[in-house]
Amino acid sequence: MKKGLIIVYTGSGKGKTTAALGLALRSLGHNHNVCMVQFIKGSWHYGEMTSANLLKPRFELIAGGRGFVGIIDDNKPVVEHKQIAQQTINICKKKMLSKKYNTIILDEINYAVNINLIKLDDVIDIIKLKPFEQNLVLTGNYARSEIIELADLVTEMKEIKHPFKKGIKAKEGIDF
Ligand code: ATP
Ligand code: MG
Repeated sequence: MKKGLIIVYTGSGKGKTTAALGLALRSLGHNHNVCMVQFIKGSWHYGEMTSANLLKPRFELIAGGRGFVGIIDDNKPVVEHKQIAQQTINICKKKMLSKKYNTIILDEINYAVNINLIKLDDVIDIIKLKPFEQNLVLTGNYARSEIIELADLVTEMKEIKHPFKKGIKAKEGIDF
């Protein structure tokens, strides 16, 4: 079976982006090329943004966002977030059509739909572009039913406990 899979990591529990990164690490061990394109992220430094350099040139990570939208430290106009999200969609399409990658990960794309940065139809268009053998991973909470319908593998991260609920702030190496 050479057909690539459509994989969705969604749900409110922690582990969606880290699951996608784990999959990338596994795939790189087979000499695959992997590209992760991140929506929303771009203002904070996450460890993977630096570790991506250690895995060059077969792992590529593109942070195509401006950071949190309407929460925490954000005071940018929504239109700015929307503009960059549109550009990020174009990057995704270009990367997919290059056929250079065995696996493409679109990080936080489900959440970007949920907060109306991008349209559901944009994501469906992207999914339709998937080259036959390429694997496509879509992360982010609130994955739409239409996307779940198109996927081959869907995992919902379910929160049982999260240290944040005890007031423990985001930890280096674990949360970012
Ligand atoms: P991670 O990137 O750690 O795998 P995630 O992709 O599942 O997390 P996101 O929704 O992308 O989760 O959240 C990004 C940030 O919010 C991360 O720092 C993460 O640890 C934190 N986070 C994730 N789930 C929760 C939760 N249920 N409560 C509080 N913070 C959370
Ligand atoms: Mg995430």
